[in-house]
Amino acid sequence: MLERVSDDLGHEIWIKRDDLTGFAMGGNKGRKLEFLMADAIAKGATCLVGCGARQSNFIRQMGAAAKLCGLRCVAINMRLPYEEAYGRPDGRDLSSGGNPLLDQMIGVELETIPDGTWDSLFEAMQDRAKQLEAEGEKVYVIPVGGSSVLGSYAYNRAGIEIDGQIEENFDWIITPTSSSSTHAGLAYFYHQTKTKVYGIACDPEEDLLDELARLANELEQLTGASKVMQRSDFLLSRDYVGPGYGVPSEAGQAAIQYLLKNEGILLDPIYSGKAFAGMLGLIKSGEISGRICFLHTGGLPALFGGGAQETLDQQESHWTAKSPENK
Ligand SMILES: *Cc1c(COP(=O)(O)O)cnc(C)c1O
Repeated sequence: MLERVSDDLGHEIWIKRDDLTGFAMGGNKGRKLEFLMADAIAKGATCLVGCGARQSNFIRQMGAAAKLCGLRCVAINMRLPYEEAYGRPDGRDLSSGGNPLLDQMIGVELETIPDGTWDSLFEAMQDRAKQLEAEGEKVYVIPVGGSSVLGSYAYNRAGIEIDGQIEENFDWIITPTSSSSTHAGLAYFYHQTKTKVYGIACDPEEDLLDELARLANELEQLTGASKVMQRSDFLLSRDYVGPGYGVPSEAGQAAIQYLLKNEGILLDPIYSGKAFAGMLGLIKSGEISGRICFLHTGGLPALFGGGAQETLDQQESHWTAKSPENK
């Protein structure tokens, strides 16, 4: 439990530390990779192929998992992929340092292509996969963020772990939502129970709800559980994306500072900081209350993303603010 935050907010706030898990500095992609790697090995893969932003946590963790299993790992990335409808967001460029530095150290074969839409990134990944197949590799392509049905299954299982660690079940679980398998897996597990899962979108994408419903549907087929979920069964706030995917937001940066000042726990600028800001907002508006668990999905290498020190210096007043409400 977060004692000081709970005192401050007047609710019981817990934190699930998936930032402290395995695969090269941890994060939510580790749980997904446990199942994805088993599948890759079962299918005789020799080479993993994935894609993401330069600051992708998934690529870093996939690289570490590949090394552990003795596989080659190729990743196509862009500084900042974006949605056609929204264009490339303005904001601090985090694309150097942090994750891409670790990718290089780990030995991921990183190929950076010019910025464009997510669809063009997926296409480039498929082309590269075909090329590698032609060269004789047995390729295992992992969808962005590890969000195949196996990724969702990992977070379906996480629900069992969470419930086993506490005496009384939570009223709410708050998670960042982007490629969606974390949210989908948890929401499917808790569907029709006392615990409600609320996702905070870190991505302006219009079809996040379709994605959540699709993954839940595939989970139903995989597990044989007779629970069907529709778009309307998912709780998702889009109010905390800020300037766009991959770019820090004011509220997110303030939330990072708030948790640090109160508990000495770090959050990241792209996902967990924004999600924590979302949780604070939902508590303030009275939408959520009671026993609340924040899922810390990791992402801390992005704190060392390009230009971090300069921004901190520029925003000195910002970083000495007492709480997000003062913003
Ligand atoms: C990928 C990621 C998320 C989002 O999880 P999805 O399952 O892709 O929705 C949240 N936090 C961090 C730190 C991540 O790397």
